[in-house]
Amino acid sequence: MEQPTAPEAPISPIDALRRICFLLERGRESSYRIDAFRRSIEAITLVSDEELRERVEAGTLKQIKGIGDSSAAIIGQSVRGVLPAYLVSTEEKHGEPLTRGGAALYAALRGDLHAHSNWSDGGSPIEEMVLAAVELGQEWMALTDHSPRLTVANGLSRERLTQQLKRVDAINASLGDAFTLLRGIEVDIHLDGTLDQDDDLLDQLDVVTASIHSKLRQPSFEMTPRMVAAVRNPRTNVLAHCTGQLVTGSRGKRPPSQFDAEKVFRACLENDVAVEINSRPERCDPPDELIELARDLGCLFTIDSDAHAPGQLDMKSLGCERAERLGIPAERIVTTWPVDDVRAWAKG
Ligand SMILES: [Zn+2]
Ligand SMILES: [Zn+2]
Repeated sequence: MEQPTAPEAPISPIDALRRICFLLERGRESSYRIDAFRRSIEAITLVSDEELRERVEAGTLKQIKGIGDSSAAIIGQSVRGVLPAYLVSTEEKHGEPLTRGGAALYAALRGDLHAHSNWSDGGSPIEEMVLAAVELGQEWMALTDHSPRLTVANGLSRERLTQQLKRVDAINASLGDAFTLLRGIEVDIHLDGTLDQDDDLLDQLDVVTASIHSKLRQPSFEMTPRMVAAVRNPRTNVLAHCTGQLVTGSRGKRPPSQFDAEKVFRACLENDVAVEINSRPERCDPPDELIELARDLGCLFTIDSDAHAPGQLDMKSLGCERAERLGIPAERIVTTWPVDDVRAWAKG
């Protein structure tokens, strides 16, 4: 992957707004402001350059539904060939790479096995997530929206996932060889260790990322067999954010779930399931000592963004910093592999 660089004038209004959103998302700013900018991008996508210029001159930009004061100023400046002031200040605040460490691993990353769109609880359409991944120099990404049980996250029913797969295929067809969008899911692990989607549908996916979102405080003697059963399921490829811990952020803190990590990671090793290094700063999951345990057992890993917005795709740099510091060899990280190898591994 490549570090995105700061743009220069002239810049189109849409590029300026997209870059601002990217930086704000990556910097974990409030979604309220970002959503407003994203709405303004949608609003001007349908407006011709000529009309936009006329409206800037006439001062009537804000008559377009979805354009507020800040967006109007950004659009006005970029139409006049000036680098928008809001972009400059956002660049100053959030333009630096998220971390200095892990640069070699970051450069070696090719893909992502955990990312969401607005089909479940993400903020952006699939197409926008793909475009951002392409701009970061990624080669592939699995779309992993939530499964039905997770109603709070607008989890996809059987019908909606079937519908989504058609969209994924259409997007893929339009991308040619330049980028591959893999058919994926973040499937919830039930209390009995079964997966929250029908087997025949899981069989149609390229990759299955499995995770726990309920009863995180179960005692270890219940949590361990639950996780081992999920890992032994031949359809599971990735065990995501395995401890469920939250270390910072607006949702507060949550201690890691209790389970026999050696048993769970041994099951991962035996079943060719990768242990996810979840890059989200509030998750930072698994903690260092568990990554070291999985490393010493010989497990495969993924470095995933768990992005819910395009700018968050770049959070993988945080996972890279951790993996490099903890001495995980790049070849054991599935998200550094070419997409054909990932497909073969997932179906193997
Ligand atoms: Zn999750
Ligand atoms: Zn997720």
